[in-house]
Amino acid sequence: MPNYTAPVEDMMFLFDKLRNNKNYNEIEKYKEVNSELVKDILVEAAKINENLILPLAKSGDENPTILENGVVRTPPGYKEAYKKYTDDGWTSLSCDPKYGGQGMPKTVSGFFDEMLSSASLSFKLYSELSIGAYNCIKHHATDELKNKYLPKIVEGKWSGTMCLTEPVCGTDLGLLKTKALEQSDATYKISGQKIFITSGDHDLTENIIHLVIARASDSPAGTKGISLFLVPKFKVNEDGSIGQRNGISTGSIESKMGIKGSATCVLNFDEAIGYMIGPKNKGLSSMFTMMNLERIVVGIQGLGISEIAYQNSLSYAKERKQGKTNYSKSENGADYIIEHADIRKSLLNMKSIIEGERALCFWLSQQTEVSLNHPNNEIRQEASDLVSLMTPVVKSMFTDMGMEITSDAMQIHGGYGYTKDQGIEQLYRDNRITPIYEGTNSVQAADLVFRKLSNKNGNIINKYLDLVKAECNIDIDGIKPFVDDLNKYLETLKIFTSWIEIGMKDKKDDVSAACNDYLKILGLVATAHAWIKVLEVSFQDYENNKDFYEDKIQTAHFYFKRVLPRIDSHFKAATTGSDYIMNFKFN
Ligand SMILES: Cc1cc2nc3c(=O)[nH]c(=O)nc-3n(C[C@H](O)[C@H](O)[C@H](O)COP(=O)(O)OP(=O)(O)OC[C@H]3O[C@@H](n4cnc5c(N)ncnc54)[C@H](O)[C@@H]3O)c2cc1C
Repeated sequence: MPNYTAPVEDMMFLFDKLRNNKNYNEIEKYKEVNSELVKDILVEAAKINENLILPLAKSGDENPTILENGVVRTPPGYKEAYKKYTDDGWTSLSCDPKYGGQGMPKTVSGFFDEMLSSASLSFKLYSELSIGAYNCIKHHATDELKNKYLPKIVEGKWSGTMCLTEPVCGTDLGLLKTKALEQSDATYKISGQKIFITSGDHDLTENIIHLVIARASDSPAGTKGISLFLVPKFKVNEDGSIGQRNGISTGSIESKMGIKGSATCVLNFDEAIGYMIGPKNKGLSSMFTMMNLERIVVGIQGLGISEIAYQNSLSYAKERKQGKTNYSKSENGADYIIEHADIRKSLLNMKSIIEGERALCFWLSQQTEVSLNHPNNEIRQEASDLVSLMTPVVKSMFTDMGMEITSDAMQIHGGYGYTKDQGIEQLYRDNRITPIYEGTNSVQAADLVFRKLSNKNGNIINKYLDLVKAECNIDIDGIKPFVDDLNKYLETLKIFTSWIEIGMKDKKDDVSAACNDYLKILGLVATAHAWIKVLEVSFQDYENNKDFYEDKIQTAHFYFKRVLPRIDSHFKAATTGSDYIMNFKFN
């Protein structure tokens, strides 16, 4: 089983030193969320993740969730752990105190999401979609539904799901077949089949609240005729108690490559009673409230899994001896593999990406809070634009990097990484779903390029590039080489953005074939921007914590020398066009 120590020091560094953002500071309700409080939360979060949840990863992998006589049973230890997890209030961390939540900002809950992803992604998924459902109900449902369902979800007694996918409809939700028939009492009867539903059924909570997209009988075809419904597994009585079973059954659960402790279900809806949420035929836009926030959390899953993969690679490299280094001093035997330049490079690659991503994520969490809670409309809208630009980037880049990092972790462990001994191959398998679900990474890239770039006539990307440029105008000698590198790549990104704009007119396949490269370049630039913020503090505050800041400066140095230049090859390859791709004849 891999070991894990939550990176509380790095998280507290971000919270203490990078929190000072003017717009974020103006959010009244977070003024009392201070360093002491956050440290207490993170220390407790570390304990539950390191001690109670980490062992569930192996248990879930070896004893996957099963469907037995119509009942879905979670792996050994899950029930007990879930009880402790909810008794300790972890499901309510970021929820509104009005519904029993603790009202912590996403800057803090994001840290918790990362720890939980490191410890056990399968276990995490049972509460993750609940928070997604909470957000969606809170934003779009009537007060009656909110008051009836939210407190129980916040408490963790009931969980939530997101039911979009059907056998013929994955990425293209316009193809959906599930029907909603309106009843005289304004409820709907929902009928159809949903597949691949995470936590669709299980034995951890008293009730499961499904958020289902379906088409009302008088709605048009395609995405313009989709509405959103709240459909509980058990109907809920007027007084909030649990009533009769609703018309939902579990057809089967998927046998999967990874996250085997997570129940991925086929759900059959047979005239199940549902309640419409948000306006009729606007279901997708309501669902996107859930999905957009959820996509950032999926990015954090990739970050969390990368972190545990790195930690174990580092400790293995310090204890495994093989071969001699070029300037070996050992007379007999071999050197620790951490002495080999190639292994060191691989470890630094992981570390520089992970710490940069964590800093980027912290910045994005602040922007998300500003977009939701700042008193000024204009400031809220500007932050919201930045969040919408960065959401596909964080979702895709962090999860793709998760694949690279877990694969490199296996490589560092050699044969012991590929076999099950150390639990490293499981990290690779568990992470593999993250570039697929919540909208595949390629679809995220298309969303970024075709929707977000052209939105508001390109104003959003241009504003972002200006912001990065302005924030990197720092008068500290040590930072100058880093800023020079970043400025060079900002220019590349500008040229690439213009190339995309031109291609949009009559070379759309060129643009489609370049989307993934564009997303990666933007992600690498955004991570460099986050590193510049870290460097600014590191140079300014150097004397107060030399070892910590020297580590940051050297890690950033690696990122700027070895990771950021990946931009050159992405740009060069992507701008060769697509004729030779589209004209190729596959036999
Ligand atoms: C473990 C697991 C958990 C899941 N959990 C949930 C859940 O809780 N709720 C839920 O509703 N769904 C869930 N899903 C479904 C998941 O979101 C879908 O699998 C995913 O959106 C992709 O849909 P698809 O599998 O139908 O692939 P398809 O849509 O068929 O895509 C196949 C390939 O084609 C590409 N592609 C598709 N359209 C385009 C396009 N327009 N341009 C370019 N390329 C394109 C895709 O990128 C992909 O590579 C889950 C899936 C799994 C495996």
